[in-house]
Amino acid sequence: MISVTSLSSYLYCQRKLFLERVLGLFELPKAALIKGTVRHETYDLINKGEEALVRSITKLILFEELNAKYRREYDRMLRETIIKNKQQIIGVELLPEDLFMQVLPLIRNEAGTRSKQLFDFFSKHNVFGEELWQKLTPKILSEQKIDSPNLGLKGIIDQIEVYGEEYVPIELKTGKCPKEGVWPGHRIQVAAYALLIEDFFKKDVKEAFVNYLDSQERRQILMNQFLRLEVVGLIDKVKSLLSRYELPGLSGNENKCCMCSLKDKCFDDAYLKKLLEDKKSKTLNIRAPT
Ligand code: SF4
Repeated sequence: MISVTSLSSYLYCQRKLFLERVLGLFELPKAALIKGTVRHETYDLINKGEEALVRSITKLILFEELNAKYRREYDRMLRETIIKNKQQIIGVELLPEDLFMQVLPLIRNEAGTRSKQLFDFFSKHNVFGEELWQKLTPKILSEQKIDSPNLGLKGIIDQIEVYGEEYVPIELKTGKCPKEGVWPGHRIQVAAYALLIEDFFKKDVKEAFVNYLDSQERRQILMNQFLRLEVVGLIDKVKSLLSRYELPGLSGNENKCCMCSLKDKCFDDAYLKKLLEDKKSKTLNIRAPT
């Protein structure tokens, strides 16, 4: 079974996917990766803590009071995530307190949005506590892991917004956001999550979103049959790439290669040839009958 991230990696650079998944080469963690991990883990805590937070609102309160409660909780969650990842943060030469201050505006913004939605909801429907939680939509499922033997695909979905019978996958992304729409790899990634949801929950998914956290942009992808077929075709291409012992060509994109931490190994033909031969003979030995 292949992972959804392999699909976007394939679109980014087939050779890199091959180096990582077939030859076992890997990138050292970079600052951007650690920052992304901290953001993801904080959002995961936020989603998991939502139910308790909503249930704790048992009577009408002022918006300012609700917002302060959200901010306190989210700040605590960010602090907890920073402490948990302290060694990795220091390992990429970042200061934990600097990273805290970098991520803080993002989660403060999220606290503002969610507390406003909740305030509007209970002010309008006059429900609180358990009833408020039961009636509140959407509910958010976080870090949902789905394996689909039917598709030969597996993935962990950052968020699924559930509106009654409707399921909407959401992918959280840090980094630059395109002028319009989403980056090609992100489009395939959320479309693949939509297929996993359709297979697992037996629901049609009509749309998916990529949330670009740094720019606070939420971009929509509409699902259709062409996109579904594109994902299925890509799954076959990735399977084929990973099952062959043929090194794909270079990406042909100088910018990508410049930023790639595997470039030294990638450009060393003799090293890669030897690695490939070793891998091949090991696999053949394992497969050979005793
Ligand atoms: S150096 Fe370029 S071709 Fe090689 S793996 Fe990295 S991005 Fe791909």
